Amino acid sequence: MELSYVQTTCPYCGTGCSFNLVVKDGKVQGTAPYHRSPVNEGKVCPKGLYAHEFINSGDRLTKPLIKKDGKFVEASWDEALKLIAEKFKSFKPDECACLASARASNEDNYAMMKFARGVLKTRHIDHCARLCHASTVAGLAAIFGSGAMTNSIPDIAEAKTLFVIGSNTFENHPLIGRNIMRAQAKGAKVIYADPRKTATGKQADLFLQFYSGTDVCLLNGLMQEIIKNGWEDKDFIAKRVSGFDDLKAEVMKPEYSLENVSTITGVPVDQLKEAAELIGKSEANAILYSMGITQHTTGVDNVKSIGFLQMLTGNLGRPGTGVNALRGQNNVQGACDMGALPVVYTAYQKVIDPAAHKKFEDAWKFKDGIAKGENGYEVTVMMDVLTDKPGELKCMYIMGENPMISDPDLTHVEHALKSLEFLVCQDIFMNETAELADVVLPAACYAEKEGTQTNTERRVQMWRKAQNPPGEARGDWEIIADLAAKMGYAEQFAWKTSEEVFNEMATVTPSYGGMTYERLNKPEALHWPCPTKEHPGTPILHGEKFGTPDGKGIMSGISFKYQAERPDAEFPFLLTTGRCIWHWHTGTMTRRSENLAREEPTGWVEINDEDAKALGIKNGEMIKAISRRGEIQITARVTDTIKKGVMFIPFHFVECAANMLTINALDPIAKIPESKACAIKVEKIQEA
Ligand code: SF4
Repeated sequence: MELSYVQTTCPYCGTGCSFNLVVKDGKVQGTAPYHRSPVNEGKVCPKGLYAHEFINSGDRLTKPLIKKDGKFVEASWDEALKLIAEKFKSFKPDECACLASARASNEDNYAMMKFARGVLKTRHIDHCARLCHASTVAGLAAIFGSGAMTNSIPDIAEAKTLFVIGSNTFENHPLIGRNIMRAQAKGAKVIYADPRKTATGKQADLFLQFYSGTDVCLLNGLMQEIIKNGWEDKDFIAKRVSGFDDLKAEVMKPEYSLENVSTITGVPVDQLKEAAELIGKSEANAILYSMGITQHTTGVDNVKSIGFLQMLTGNLGRPGTGVNALRGQNNVQGACDMGALPVVYTAYQKVIDPAAHKKFEDAWKFKDGIAKGENGYEVTVMMDVLTDKPGELKCMYIMGENPMISDPDLTHVEHALKSLEFLVCQDIFMNETAELADVVLPAACYAEKEGTQTNTERRVQMWRKAQNPPGEARGDWEIIADLAAKMGYAEQFAWKTSEEVFNEMATVTPSYGGMTYERLNKPEALHWPCPTKEHPGTPILHGEKFGTPDGKGIMSGISFKYQAERPDAEFPFLLTTGRCIWHWHTGTMTRRSENLAREEPTGWVEINDEDAKALGIKNGEMIKAISRRGEIQITARVTDTIKKGVMFIPFHFVECAANMLTINALDPIAKIPESKACAIKVEKIQEA
């Protein structure tokens, strides 16, 4: 039988690379380059190269499973959906919560959002954007009126300077890293701020090795130095910004002198000076950031401070500039756009806005109305409510997420999920969360269905079906539509194709209003906002004005605050967590890929060589890492690339799960947990 090639979009990171799936005998056998996408031009990273390897794993879920007497038993779809429908109907609306998925398509997420608000009539819907970029959504929306990456991926190559902070771009968004190198090849200087000298740090011209959690202090110090030297863009500030006086009053305080900032951040004064000068004098400075900025109790403050620096220097709305928030998962941007959040419908239309509430009530035509127009619980808050307010939340429907690895303080998460009266998980593999479920539904993966996903630069691209799902597995929105029908809402979920779901979504989503499958079905696809059928899409935001009511960017003074838990005599090290190039998120897919798993079979803790020497710990030794919340056994990796006093653990590996140690301290606005900073100690394992 001949090979066929099906072009699709990568299911891993938010870069959104395109490649071909190679199909033989009706099964995906490999990947091959697709050269026409402007995102990656035929190149992929190792995860993309091996993105076919998990698809036909022997342990895919193929039948619905119902737990009986503590054991999962195979069931028919009819039996499983009837049971779920009966149970769901037995709970009051606000006793139910739903988690949508940054891994699933826009169509799947729209269906889940409509199901939560229209069928269950609950306000409590969220997804794992809460754990990665909720601070970006909240912070950038507050100051720019839009919570998304401002420029495009190819545009990064046009920058004259790049300030990369809290993003190991070369490992976590490798094909975006390629554009950093392109800019550098044309003479751009790269400044990199991080506690670790990562692969990205090694490529930088100036490396600012700072303590995790001191971002606002660092940024305020840079802004003070820029203002002191008159490098701010006075014209941009006068015409396009409000609140400059408030910002200036804060950042010019003596505590943000370079000497003080150096003491707090650990970055030498001369390096701070050099960074401020490079940014202040640049013709086009692009900032790239990721979860090193967002996953803090000051996540929103950090994000806003980045926006302030770019407004101060006039680096917005032009090629080679911008606030480039690099989103984590393949469709985390899309899941947010689809309103899989507790405070907005699609396109960030607020649920507390009576006009938006009426718009969705009218469009969806549920005879018994939709969830009330009040904000619901974020996933991190759901876990707290489950443990602290017994009986308030009773049932949960989780699609394509694994909070038992991804959420902070796993002992707390396990306690929370076990207190549910009824849990439904819908996924492609059995995972640590699904093990706790009452019913598990088998879902199709990205290669087995049609749909769209929106990458970090707001580009909406297609998934195309390359093979049938295994066994009786089905697409997520199809399962949701069948369940809705069983609960008496067939009319509202009468879609026959994913295109019909997309078309309905576009009618209620202004930023997607001009998009159709026909328009997206081309290599460059379309960037939102694309409000009309004639609109060409918007690769660069904020060209003339911001999305705020008066069109001006909003500055304010933000004072520096330390993280929730600082190292002390008992727990003397600062733990930061993150990803590695070979694995993805909770490892459900990448650890089933032979080639990726071989490269990095398990986790490790990075320890500064001087700290290791003082502790008597050797490279490769199995040690204990302990926080106030739990402990793990893990291999020590001794290195001089991590800052003294700081340790790093990748969070993909269940057998040494970093989130056993992390803290569930939340940003007060975004409710994002502080995964990037908590206090730990490490100990040698005593021989028995
Ligand atoms: Fe996939 Fe991201 Fe790698 Fe591109 S950079 S191939 S989107 S994991």
